[in-house]
Amino acid sequence: MLDNITWFGHDSFKITGEITVYTDPYKIKKADAADLILITHSHFDHCCPEDIAKVTGSNTVIVATRDCAATLTGNVKTAAPGDKLTAAGIEIEAVAAYNTNKSFHPKTNGWVGYIFAFAGKRYYIAGDTDLIPEMKSMHDIYAALLPVSGTYVMTADEAARAAIEIAPKYAVPMHYGAIVGSIKDAQRFAAEVKRLSGGASNIETVILPQH
Ligand code: ZN
Ligand code: ZN
Repeated sequence: MLDNITWFGHDSFKITGEITVYTDPYKIKKADAADLILITHSHFDHCCPEDIAKVTGSNTVIVATRDCAATLTGNVKTAAPGDKLTAAGIEIEAVAAYNTNKSFHPKTNGWVGYIFAFAGKRYYIAGDTDLIPEMKSMHDIYAALLPVSGTYVMTADEAARAAIEIAPKYAVPMHYGAIVGSIKDAQRFAAEVKRLSGGASNIETVILPQH
């Protein structure tokens, strides 16, 4: 169950299949070579050139928002909300990510989450976002990686409502374990997804161990 996903804390994941994808690499302990790196926005704990370098090899493609891309070298493509592109042989859609009840991530910054598909499955990494109307139109998501820490992003309760709207097969809490948030937020998220769905949900919450 989701054994192709490794979590390094915060929004930092390695997802393997026909290619290796890293998202927002941060506090990566070992060097590794990604085929594709996805960066959601320019905050230091998401766009970290030092950690990005650790997982960049000679064939790595990086997809990042324009402000983050400006700080990186290598094969970098930029993405803004609504963009669809192919990188490292897979289809990627950049989707909006922004705050609605706080001001850390204004919609006008053009920061993103990503929906990307490989090995026949669609993954969604939400980035730093609140519960936003765009989530309603997402469909066929296999695994949704959702922030749950509150403060800069959705609270666990808000994230549970987001999960119900997105209706993925698997919901994975993130954006805790570094900077803000704890396992308690992830556990509350899991309980709330269950409660909101009346226990009848097809959504399975998976709290990944931190590597
Ligand atoms: Zn941020
Ligand atoms: Zn963040």
